[in-house]
Amino acid sequence: MLSRRAALEAIAGHRFEVVVIGGGITGAGVALDAASRGYSVALLERSDYASGTSSLSSKMVHGGLRYLQNFDLGLVREALIERQLMVQLAPHLVYPTPFLVPSFAEERRDRKIGIGLNMYDVMATTRVGRSRRDIRAAKEEDEDLYWSPDRHRTIDHDEVLELVPSLEPRDPGGAYLFYDCQTDDVRLVLTALGEAERFGATMLNGAEVTEVLSRRGSAAGVGFVEAESGERFEVEADNVVNATGVWADRIRPEVLEEEDVPRIAPSRGTHILLDRDDLSTGSAACIVPAGEGRAIFALPWYGRTLVGTTDSDYAGDIDHPQPSGADIEYLLEAVNDFFAVSLGASDLVGAYAGVRPLIATGDPRKSVDISRKAELYETSSGMLTITGGKLTTWRRMAKQTVDRLVEREGREAPCRTAEIPLGMEARPTDLEAPEGVGERSVAQLAFRYGHAARAVLDLAWDDPRLAAPIVPGRPDLLAEAAIAARVEQARNVADVLLRRTRLGILAAPQLRDADAARPVADALAAELGWSRRRAKHEAEAWPAAAAEAGVDPAATAAV
Ligand SMILES: Cc1cc2nc3c(=O)[nH]c(=O)nc-3n(C[C@H](O)[C@H](O)[C@H](O)COP(=O)(O)OP(=O)(O)OC[C@H]3O[C@@H](n4cnc5c(N)ncnc54)[C@H](O)[C@@H]3O)c2cc1C
Repeated sequence: MLSRRAALEAIAGHRFEVVVIGGGITGAGVALDAASRGYSVALLERSDYASGTSSLSSKMVHGGLRYLQNFDLGLVREALIERQLMVQLAPHLVYPTPFLVPSFAEERRDRKIGIGLNMYDVMATTRVGRSRRDIRAAKEEDEDLYWSPDRHRTIDHDEVLELVPSLEPRDPGGAYLFYDCQTDDVRLVLTALGEAERFGATMLNGAEVTEVLSRRGSAAGVGFVEAESGERFEVEADNVVNATGVWADRIRPEVLEEEDVPRIAPSRGTHILLDRDDLSTGSAACIVPAGEGRAIFALPWYGRTLVGTTDSDYAGDIDHPQPSGADIEYLLEAVNDFFAVSLGASDLVGAYAGVRPLIATGDPRKSVDISRKAELYETSSGMLTITGGKLTTWRRMAKQTVDRLVEREGREAPCRTAEIPLGMEARPTDLEAPEGVGERSVAQLAFRYGHAARAVLDLAWDDPRLAAPIVPGRPDLLAEAAIAARVEQARNVADVLLRRTRLGILAAPQLRDADAARPVADALAAELGWSRRRAKHEAEAWPAAAAEAGVDPAATAAV
């Protein structure tokens, strides 16, 4: 990615064919799709890339078994096809995980789940209408291009315990086993943005769009404020795309009909993270009943156990949603019951809450039941707003948006994103690490950056101080903080701890003090030319940023 200074120079006062507002997964997708069809594109992000909902998801690339219950079949099918595509396009970043729905000694296996999983399998087939033999032949011929998960199956007591040893006290009778995929949501955004830049898009974070400019009644660009200087700039554009997620109804051109923009009905989802010594789901994920017919997930993620999510209407501050005490209690109660443990808020290694950009339709249903379908709106001024949807369906949302641009301009420019690899895969064995950088670090770098991990390791080779872990015992390297500032426009400690790495939610208690954040601030200082005083000040700002995100509920409770 260009440095912020170079990006600002390239954008301010210039003219583009498309300006995208919002640097979450949707905006990143639109930038990639439009740039790869030949449009000149600028993207502006108010805060940091993925700082909205796109860093606060359950990190699943999935069809969503739950949406089958609501008969949202189109959405499930669409998402399952995207899931397969993502594994092909970003094999280092999107990976299948076995999911278990266990039953216990006294229970019978729930047949309804089996029926649902059968549908899930059928809907995941990209070659509908082809026989199994044809599919097998296609797989053999085209092995690298075609990924599909194994069908679901039932497994017995022993196999359940092999996958999830911690269920032993519950004496599981067996389980349904099926596959879905996981990722790091922030990395997916940064990777899509990296690809967009390869096709010529220019992007800038810390750039808040404050107005949509209009010329003769048409949206003709945007005015934005650059965060460091507080200065206002303008960028002209033939097309303006609003991809601001839960903030979508705040971006308004002057001339506007009420029905031109969606009304967002925010719903909050909380997650907690636990040490695997306290609660491990082994190598699988578990679906955990959570009362009133609801279920939550317990997922292995970055060496921790990620538990979530809640789903409830939310009327609070959407800029800084926090995990509520009641939500944390609800999640803990569900896992305590299910795994026969007794964990409390003081056992958490991290927590976060995100807000879903659900579209209010005047529908009185609860947020859990409102569709995750994406919607595209067009104002009379020509501004397009794309919101709703899921992390999984970003490519389709982007396609839908850019298809509309192409259609109204009468261009010949088909969508190409189904064939554009997202980053470049690297296996850990392809990477050479200096002494002191362990296997876990190398494997994590290969997952996070793919081939670009070499740039991180080059820094670690050149400067042994950067080969050190950011948090003792965790595999993330200080070189990642340096690379984040150098090529990913990271501007502060929170950008590194909450997003470029996920340490803020994976090791919150170890990062309670400003002192623990100081090495990150020093690595950023060397890249961004900060003084020692500024580095100290930036480290001191971290605990407040962590508190604002609510990542360490035990610390907040202690204050
Ligand atoms: C708890 C939870 C769990 C979820 N789990 C999953 C899951 O497992 N799988 C899945 O597929 N989906 C999941 N989702 C849904 C998914 O995360 C979202 O649909 C997706 O991340 C939305 O992306 P977005 O880019 O539209 O919005 P965002 O990521 O919120 O991006 C919008 C961006 O616009 C920026 N912005 C706002 N105003 C301005 C402005 N004036 N100027 C410039 N920029 C601006 C914001 O800073 C933000 O970065 C989950 C959602 C939640 C809340």
